[in-house]
Amino acid sequence: MAVPQNKITKSRRNMRRAHDALVADNPNECPNCGELKRPHHICPSCGHYADREVIAQADEIDLDDDAA
Ligand SMILES: [Zn+2]
Repeated sequence: MAVPQNKITKSRRNMRRAHDALVADNPNECPNCGELKRPHHICPSCGHYADREVIAQADEIDLDDDAA
């Protein structure tokens, strides 16, 4: 197994890790419900994308219509 020739000091290790922080994504406001959503993604709260409904929400489905 390869072994480092020199010790990485706490200073150099921490300088390397200075760029490792995660960056929060930039949420957009849903034009339909106003909830914050990820850009270019379907709104998780109302199922709309670009002013049209893409995913029907569970509480909007009327199961009685399909009952045999
Ligand atoms: Zn929405």
